Amino acid sequence: MDCLFCKIASGTVPSARVYEDAHAVAFLDINPNNPGHTLLVPKDHARNILDIKEETLCAIMPALKKLSRAVKDAVDADGLNIAMNNEPAAGQIVLHAHIHIIPRFTTDGHRHFEKRPYKDAGEMNAVAEKIRTALA
Ligand code: 5GP
Ligand code: ZN
Repeated sequence: MDCLFCKIASGTVPSARVYEDAHAVAFLDINPNNPGHTLLVPKDHARNILDIKEETLCAIMPALKKLSRAVKDAVDADGLNIAMNNEPAAGQIVLHAHIHIIPRFTTDGHRHFEKRPYKDAGEMNAVAEKIRTALA
């Protein structure tokens, strides 16, 4: 499969790698929101959260925790966004599952996602019911 992040994980394509274990690699995003922006990538190819194996997801969580602290300390950030874009509609460009660890600074000027309230409690409850049904 011609997958950029499989190639970076295997070392065929170079990256500024900062971490590796049996399940994942982490490297600097080439076009960061802020310096230190790191991508945590499972070695086992999955497209995104919708098809990743639960065991793969669980196996990379300790690295997410460890990297979060290290990235924050390394660039002396005030906070972090942990983000995962899933499918192009949500901004996913590289179709190999990855988690963004983005250092944030009180002065960086980045705005958060825009939010809009529900029309009323009825609309909110109807959406909640649809999600409960989808889970069942
Ligand atoms: P997505 O939008 O798919 O969640 O994020 C993909 C990320 O991969 C982007 O932030 C982009 O800057 C980064 N990226 C794309 N190509 C490369 C590359 O060749 N090397 C590295 N290190 N990052 C890349
Ligand atoms: Zn891949």
